[in-house]
Amino acid sequence: MVEKLRYCPACQRYTLAEQCPACSAQTIPPKPPKFSLEDKYGAYRREVKRQKLKEKGLY
Ligand SMILES: [Zn+2]
Repeated sequence: MVEKLRYCPACQRYTLAEQCPACSAQTIPPKPPKFSLEDKYGAYRREVKRQKLKEKGLY
């Protein structure tokens, strides 16, 4: 199931069809996620949460 998942770069949405049902563009196999980017946002979210806890005096 996962390997059949495809991605429309025009709509930036995932579909199972080889042609996008929304815009009829050719869909492509989705690229593996960039873990560095994920980590970056994860770290950012954790930092924001930490700051909020600090403000409340809970950290
Ligand atoms: Zn599309």
